[in-house]
Amino acid sequence: MIADNIQRIETKINDRAKLIAVTKTKPVPLLQEAYDAGCRRFGENKVQEMVEKQPLLPADVEWHLIGHLQTNKVKYIAPFVALIQSVDSLKLLQEINKQALKHERVIDCLLQIHIAQEETKFGLSADEVESLLNDAQLDALANVRIIGLMGLATNTDDEGQVRQEFRGLKALYDRLATIRRPNVVFSELSMGMSGDFDIAVEEGSTMVRVGSAIFGAR
Ligand SMILES: *Cc1c(COP(=O)(O)O)cnc(C)c1O
Repeated sequence: MIADNIQRIETKINDRAKLIAVTKTKPVPLLQEAYDAGCRRFGENKVQEMVEKQPLLPADVEWHLIGHLQTNKVKYIAPFVALIQSVDSLKLLQEINKQALKHERVIDCLLQIHIAQEETKFGLSADEVESLLNDAQLDALANVRIIGLMGLATNTDDEGQVRQEFRGLKALYDRLATIRRPNVVFSELSMGMSGDFDIAVEEGSTMVRVGSAIFGAR
């Protein structure tokens, strides 16, 4: 069933974006099932859960952190995380840099942008992301690489609104992608979840984060 779901979603994506299987709250045997069906990119929103699951899956899994990250927890994922999708401050980037250096790694990051109407969602505004990307202090962070943006659309049945939000994020991405700095190299725009990944891909997503459409409701 998981294999069928993945197959159906991959067919819809049709090589236009990477599929991140969102595995939060799901037990390891289900992750293994997704792995056996070909999934190599898993997204978790909690550090503790990712750290527990990571050693139990094959080493070629790419682990993506998609939830809010506290600076004091960066050290736990720094040895292995493939992409931190939820970066929302310079302070956090500085800590990721420090921990990445300890492991002699460069850690790829996305800046999380607030695009939804909801008040509760994390993320930077367009102004905030622009000033962060132009902050001279970024140049000192040789062990992080900012490779793009991540955003969550409003949770609504109004497809027009969702499309509008994704389109706005793509426009921001295109504008910021012209910024030239040593550790800012835009290549990824992470947008789209189970309910809206098809719209997101149409609007230029390169990475969709899909949980319940693969594993069932949480
Ligand atoms: C849970 C989660 C998803 C996946 O949500 P589904 O609706 O289950 O596909 C995607 N992105 C983030 C940031 C999440 O927390």
